[in-house]
Amino acid sequence: MTHAFADALPELALPWQAEPAAAPAQLALDEALAADLGLDPAWLRTDDGLRFLTGTLVPEGARPVAQVYAGHQFGGYSPRLGDGRALLLGELRTRDGQLRDLHLKGSGRTPFARSGDGLAAVGPMLREHVVSTAMHALGVPTTRALAVVATGSDVQREVPLPGAVLARTASSHLRVGSFQYAAAVEAGSGAVPGAPGGLLRRLADHAIARHHPVAAQAGPPAAQYRALLEEVVAAQARLVAQWVLLGFVHGVMNTDNTTISGETIDYGPCAFIDAYDPLASFSSIDTGGRYAYGRQPGIAEWNLARFAEALLPLLVEGGAGQQDDDAARTDRAVAVATEALEGFRVVFGSAFAVGVHRKLGLDTRAVDRAVSGPVVDDLLALAADARVDHTTLYRRLGDAARAGSGDAVLPLFADPAVRGRAEAWVPRWLALRPDAELADRTNPVVVPRNHLVEEALAAATAGDLAPVERLVDAVSRPFEARAGFERYAEPAPASFGDYTTFCGT
Ligand code: AMP
Ligand code: MG
Repeated sequence: MTHAFADALPELALPWQAEPAAAPAQLALDEALAADLGLDPAWLRTDDGLRFLTGTLVPEGARPVAQVYAGHQFGGYSPRLGDGRALLLGELRTRDGQLRDLHLKGSGRTPFARSGDGLAAVGPMLREHVVSTAMHALGVPTTRALAVVATGSDVQREVPLPGAVLARTASSHLRVGSFQYAAAVEAGSGAVPGAPGGLLRRLADHAIARHHPVAAQAGPPAAQYRALLEEVVAAQARLVAQWVLLGFVHGVMNTDNTTISGETIDYGPCAFIDAYDPLASFSSIDTGGRYAYGRQPGIAEWNLARFAEALLPLLVEGGAGQQDDDAARTDRAVAVATEALEGFRVVFGSAFAVGVHRKLGLDTRAVDRAVSGPVVDDLLALAADARVDHTTLYRRLGDAARAGSGDAVLPLFADPAVRGRAEAWVPRWLALRPDAELADRTNPVVVPRNHLVEEALAAATAGDLAPVERLVDAVSRPFEARAGFERYAEPAPASFGDYTTFCGT
């Protein structure tokens, strides 16, 4: 195990130790992921393996640290957040040579815990396991759950709940909040912001080397940092386009939960929409709907603007000098940042357009966009008005394309107020000659629907792991309609009611 992050950025890495788990017991283990990381799944199930996965057996070369970062939470800035209940053990390499952080969540209080207890409950950690497994299988960049280990102790939430530690992997835990912290520390220290050898520049160099090596080829340093900004903007734009296409609502898109790698991170109050509704919002604490389903692209753009602000001292050449020069320099840096941020709409717009066409079985390179564009837009408007089940609608388009008829989808528009529009839409779409296989490859049969996740987590909290294991199996092959898994493809029963997710994770 290596500790490249802690070595390169000691100011962001506080050496710390996990709290021992009283009676560790394996709840989940991704054996394929373990093997890819060079870890023996059989060993991970032994007592030593469980101590490793809960942080008390520190392997050779590892140097556990709590990471410090800042962040905007629901728009309000916190200058010092950090891992309050998490530790970075170090990095491992996958078989194909990629560096992966190994990180524990729920491993005890750290100096960043503020009023938190440093712990995590079984339910939310298994939820991260289920949903991140699904996202990976759906082809969405994401952190991954290696294991969930019960600690054998209770954690106090509204009621006492069994505690657990999640071991997760990520291509790194660098976030927009890491850059906000570094920029603020430098600005407050009297040092020249962005100076060679300083924290901000070292952080940016680390991020380039680790995630966006193409930026290193961009020329002089300022051009490289501009390229870093552009790469992160593009990676986040592509990521959020995938979320929107799949109906995923992250729920807590704070800048400390916005990665530099472009991976989805921190599955707290997340949810998949059932009924299509751009304003769908599930989190109990997101009362204003700031992070609602359809607002996610705008929020991602806002978060990236915070990233650009943090990078400002690096975006133009030349050292700090007299005040006039500094002001002119800042103006130029802002112009560079603004231009890079404009890339978000371009990349998001194109990723979304290509993706939504594919969902309809259409290839943007082969259709006349002047004709297909309105067909796409009209379906989105129709789906919103009819509140039709998102996953079911798109999956059925494959069947409709194969049959050359609207029979598979029209029953979803039973409401007389929209039925006529739906009937008029089908022939316009079929005239574009949709490809059923393309639609099937794009539209999952199974996503981790909220009622299924809740049902499985409730059982696991009560000691029965079978429903979680079955759900993980179901979401691991999301594009296949498998016999025996029919109920995983069905919308929530009406009795499930409105869904609320809780951040008290
Ligand atoms: P999140 O929104 O889950 O990414 O967490 C936001 C911040 O709160 C991070 O700094 C976490 O480390 C911290 N945090 C969340 N839950 C706890 C807890 N139970 N104990 C300590 N810190 C926590
Ligand atoms: Mg977080």
